[in-house]
Amino acid sequence: MATAFVINSPFAQTPVSVIPANFDFHSHSTVSDGLLAPHDVARRAAANGVDFWALTDHDDLGGLAEARQVAEEAGMRFVNGVEISIEWKGIPIHVVGLGFDHLHTGLSGGLDALRIGRIERARRMGDALAAIGIPGVYEGALCYAANPSLISRAHFARYLVSIGIARDVPGVFQHYLTPGKPGYVDHRWATLTEAVGWITAAGGVAVVAHPGRYKMSGGEMRKFLDEFKEIGGQGIEVTCGSHSPDHVLHFARLARHYAFHASRGSDFHGPEESYVDLGKLPQLPEDLKPVWRLIR
Ligand code: AMP
Ligand code: MN
Ligand code: MN
Ligand code: MN
Repeated sequence: MATAFVINSPFAQTPVSVIPANFDFHSHSTVSDGLLAPHDVARRAAANGVDFWALTDHDDLGGLAEARQVAEEAGMRFVNGVEISIEWKGIPIHVVGLGFDHLHTGLSGGLDALRIGRIERARRMGDALAAIGIPGVYEGALCYAANPSLISRAHFARYLVSIGIARDVPGVFQHYLTPGKPGYVDHRWATLTEAVGWITAAGGVAVVAHPGRYKMSGGEMRKFLDEFKEIGGQGIEVTCGSHSPDHVLHFARLARHYAFHASRGSDFHGPEESYVDLGKLPQLPEDLKPVWRLIR
């Protein structure tokens, strides 16, 4: 049984003094491509028994103040989070940042530029779909984006389902929105160095999101993790919504090998669009160092 210890946090109103029983450091709200507003995600996390929570919207910090207030009112500890879209050797990858100062202009300015790129990409996606006879999809997708500067493929998918192009969101991704399909366009996201640099300059911890989802060989993954560690990355998601039990074993081994701290996150997007609900996922393997220990 681990002993409790105290970490004083400049970004939390109360000192952290209790070991969390159920931490969930990966979730989305309507500030990106989630289906619930930040206050509703906070209340749902608390109702599900989450006691230490991060909202990690894609490329945007706009939900953090509301999420923190409602989380703390509901008795949870809260940590600032973000999920940054990067491209590494042509592969789209997500890096989660945790426990940063959300007012740091290096981080917020980098994310501003990423969002401008998203709008331009979305217009090209609309053009690509128009070219195969489905017009007006950019405008239609915008109606599904509460935050238009954070337009995502998920908003395109929801609109395409609404006009009967496919039965459900995974079906739209499979046939229209993944590499090689007609609505997919290449895009320059942030670099690995930029994303990790923004997070660490803002005092945060960089974590590789859902590593089991990337189309990479074992050798490529090790090269990626070598670089990630070299530039200051400290964590990896081991238990997450999209990981099978085999993924958990595999990435637990890599976490030990690289001496990374391990994270746990549902990647909740909404009641109907998630692998698992907030906080409803297995605990980390016991010998791993949980990433919440790094949150100051
Ligand atoms: P984007 O950041 O605009 O490229 O959109 C990526 C988002 O789309 C992810 O964060 C997921 O929310 C969603 N997504 C990606 N792949 C799939 C899929 N195969 N099925 C359902 N949703 C997906
Ligand atoms: Mn998403
Ligand atoms: Mn992701
Ligand atoms: Mn996510």
